[in-house]
Amino acid sequence: MRMSEAIRLGSMLGPQSRGHLQRTHRKYFFGLIGPLVTEYCALGAAFKASGARTIEAVAERDNPGFRGGAIRKGEKVAIVDHEWGALSLTVASCPACALEPPPEATPPSMPLYRLIPHLNDDHRWSRGRIADFVELVEQRIDASQAIEVHVAVDFP
Ligand SMILES: [Zn+2]
Repeated sequence: MRMSEAIRLGSMLGPQSRGHLQRTHRKYFFGLIGPLVTEYCALGAAFKASGARTIEAVAERDNPGFRGGAIRKGEKVAIVDHEWGALSLTVASCPACALEPPPEATPPSMPLYRLIPHLNDDHRWSRGRIADFVELVEQRIDASQAIEVHVAVDFP
């Protein structure tokens, strides 16, 4: 499944979370009473829709977290076993930082696994808008692969 499709599909499973991949709370009075509701950020929605498993592990080295925090070597971490390894490491510049006044001369670039939470939390983009952006990145990746195939066919 494409990540953009998984974001759209997962968005139908619950409201949008800000600051968490997934968060369950009660619906009313600051999450204290009412039925349980599970929210998903754009990335959490993609993971949930694709059925990605979460594996408990211990960090083997210091790492940057999804949301900018640091994970120290030896800390317990939850690793999401998902299908978009290469895509999530694709670096893109933030499309929202580029537009916000004053426009930044050089919008920050980061891998998608950090850019998606950045758009979700900091720019408060809807998951549908994030899915449209991810789809654009997927198309660019597909296009570059198509060029390589074309070259290989023309120049065997
Ligand atoms: Zn930004």
